[in-house]
Amino acid sequence: MSDADVIIVGGGPAGVAAAVELRRQGVGRVVLLEREAQLGGATRHCSHSPFGMLDFHRVYFGAAYGKRLEAEAARAGVEVRTGHSVVRLIAGGRVELATPHGVETLQARRLLIATGARETPRAARLISGDRPIGVVTTGALQSYVAFHGLMPFRRPLIVGSELVSLSAVLTCLSHGARPVAMIEPGPHPLAPAPLMWFPRAMGIPFHCGAELLDIHGASRVEDVTLRLRDGTLHKLACDGVLLTGRFTPESALLLQSAIGVDPFSAGPAIDPYGRTADPHLFAAGNLLRAVETAGWSFREGRAVGRAIAEDLARDADAGLDGDALLPVTFDPPVKLVVPGLIRRGNRAAPAFPNFQLRFARQARGRLSLVLDGREMWAQEKTWRPERRIALPIPSAAQTADRVHIGFEERT
Ligand SMILES: Cc1cc2nc3c(=O)[nH]c(=O)nc-3n(C[C@H](O)[C@H](O)[C@H](O)COP(=O)(O)OP(=O)(O)OC[C@H]3O[C@@H](n4cnc5c(N)ncnc54)[C@H](O)[C@@H]3O)c2cc1C
Repeated sequence: MSDADVIIVGGGPAGVAAAVELRRQGVGRVVLLEREAQLGGATRHCSHSPFGMLDFHRVYFGAAYGKRLEAEAARAGVEVRTGHSVVRLIAGGRVELATPHGVETLQARRLLIATGARETPRAARLISGDRPIGVVTTGALQSYVAFHGLMPFRRPLIVGSELVSLSAVLTCLSHGARPVAMIEPGPHPLAPAPLMWFPRAMGIPFHCGAELLDIHGASRVEDVTLRLRDGTLHKLACDGVLLTGRFTPESALLLQSAIGVDPFSAGPAIDPYGRTADPHLFAAGNLLRAVETAGWSFREGRAVGRAIAEDLARDADAGLDGDALLPVTFDPPVKLVVPGLIRRGNRAAPAFPNFQLRFARQARGRLSLVLDGREMWAQEKTWRPERRIALPIPSAAQTADRVHIGFEERT
């Protein structure tokens, strides 16, 4: 006996979109579990726009977008339980959760995990030096500002050049802080032009090929040592360090479960329906592949919600344990591929029409999709790290014995 048809873990854009779609498709009992007090996920603390353009055809600031997600979930009849933290995934559609009233176990016919991604904090970046206060990620900074009205520094150094780094610049400038510089360890900015011109246009010096070596300060940050592109060491006075980007999937629940994570994406391996190797467990959103926009995560959640509804309608609780799963292989410097599995025998329209790829570094060369030795798609150009790359998944992939994404580098 199930407590719900579908239980969703995580109330960000992906989880809410899936929940609403499941209800729209006529699924009876959809329970959404969120550990925070509100829905919205990482968008809640973003005091800037744009959110919602492709999903609601309106431009929202982050907090207002979160409220819209809450309203959509309520209107669709999703059973929302905030303040509920899932602490264990159990095979066969069971979860253990910490609730305001103690620990509970719930059983669902299908589970969807959409726990998002987080930026890499200082400890995981192995930055040496003192341990003063004022070293934060963009997410933490935006939470301080949005929920507590606190700005932890006035003259921070910003590390990173992804899109979120520009969000960090905006937050600083709009809340009385002026970054002393922005650095990117790689040879090129990670965010595309013309967006990447924004810091310089604001008078913030920007250095590529620059590395943060250590941080100094007794209680507050006083200065940092940088290694610049030409190898020289440079001491820079600042009162904080803002570590941006280098997102990693929020996979703690999976690491403790039998499913584990894909070694390349650090999120769960899924098939084109969003289903993991456990036939009861699906996944969507930034957990799969840090990191995408809110609109992308929303649309992905909606598509996986539809796939789950079709799965329930088709053969209810019939097991898929016997299905053959084929891993998608790829050549370096491709860093990750999502979906990373092909499952034979699924019949409904897939939730993922494309393989999503990321490169680990900039490389010029020919990228191709090869099924059983036959090339189905190819393109040659310069591929940049962390940029979105989408390759259509041909229907023949479902019956192939080898699905490979090849790369021949041109020097
Ligand atoms: C600083 C910052 C700025 C950004 N700016 C923009 C922008 O301007 N435009 C844009 O489109 N996108 C922006 N993004 C990206 C956008 O926020 C994400 O793409 C989107 O929120 C991802 O949605 P998601 O549902 O996959 O995950 P999330 O939004 O991360 O939601 C995951 C949810 O799961 C919950 N959760 C995690 N573990 C558990 C558990 N064990 N039990 C219960 N609940 C759990 C979390 O509390 C969270 O609410 C920004 C992100 C950041 C961090």
